[in-house]
Amino acid sequence: WKDEELKFLGNKIYYYESIGSTNEKAKILAVNGEPHGTLILSEKQTMGKGRIGRKWESPKNEGIWLSMILRPNLSPEEAPKITLVAAVACAKATRKHGINCAIKWPNDILYEGKKLAGILTEISAEIDRINHVIVGVGINVNTKKFSVELESIATSLYLIKKEPVDRKKVLIDFLKEFEYFYSKLEKGEFQDVLKEWKALNCTIGRNVKIIGKTKEIEGIAFDIDELGALLIRKNDGSVERILSGDVSLR
Ligand code: ADP
Repeated sequence: WKDEELKFLGNKIYYYESIGSTNEKAKILAVNGEPHGTLILSEKQTMGKGRIGRKWESPKNEGIWLSMILRPNLSPEEAPKITLVAAVACAKATRKHGINCAIKWPNDILYEGKKLAGILTEISAEIDRINHVIVGVGINVNTKKFSVELESIATSLYLIKKEPVDRKKVLIDFLKEFEYFYSKLEKGEFQDVLKEWKALNCTIGRNVKIIGKTKEIEGIAFDIDELGALLIRKNDGSVERILSGDVSLR
C-alpha cells in the first residue's frame, strides 16, 4: 500500500497479524541494521508497551499499532524532539478526520481529556551519537469498547465520530504529517514544529503535578524549551525544567 508521496517511511515494512510489542521488534530489527524509515505494523499487540513498564492495550484490528525505526542526524540530547514531531503528526492526522484533539505533554493525544493515542520513544545512543530511535505510536481507531480500567480514560475515533473510520487513511495521514515535520527537524526548522506543538497542546498554562521516581513537583507549566523539556514555575517562584524520561504528569 506504500503511498507514493512518502519519501522514507515504509520503504521497508514488517507486517504482523499479532506480535508482542512493535517497539520490541523494532529494536531487534534496528540492531540488525534495518534502515531509517522501516515500519513495523501489527493488527494486534499482546504486550503493547506504555512508558515506565506500563501496558498499552492493542486489540485486534481496532487501532494503528506501529513502530518506526529512525536514524536521525541529531545529537543524543536532541532526540526528545522526535517525540514532539510524532505528537504533532498524530494530532494533525486525527484532526484531519474531524477530531478536535490536543497534545498532553509529552506523549499523549487527548480528546475531551481522554486518551486517543500515545507515543513511546525509545532511544539507543552513545555519548556523542544516536544509534537509532524507535518511535512507537498507538492510535485507537475503531475500538468500540475499552476494558473496565480504560473506559473512563480512553477514547477512539469510532467512539467520537460514532462511525467506523478507515485505518489505512489515518495511517497514511499520520505518516505524511510525520515526514513533513521530521523534515523540518532535519532542516534546522524545529521552531516550526514547536510552534505547531504549542498551538495544539493542552498542558501549557495548566497547574500540573509531575510525579518522578523520587520526588513530586507541583506548579504552573508555563512553556516548553527548544529541546522539548517542560518548564514549571513552582509556588515559591522557582523554575524547574522537566525532561520527559521517567515522569508522569497529572
Ligand atoms: P501515562 O500517560 O499514564 O504517563 P503512558 O503514556 O505510558 O502513561 O501510557 C500507558 C497508560 O495508558 C496505561 O497505564 C493505561 O492507563 C493507558 N492505556 C493503555 N492502553 C491504552 C489505550 N489503548 N488507549 C488509551 N489509553 C491506554
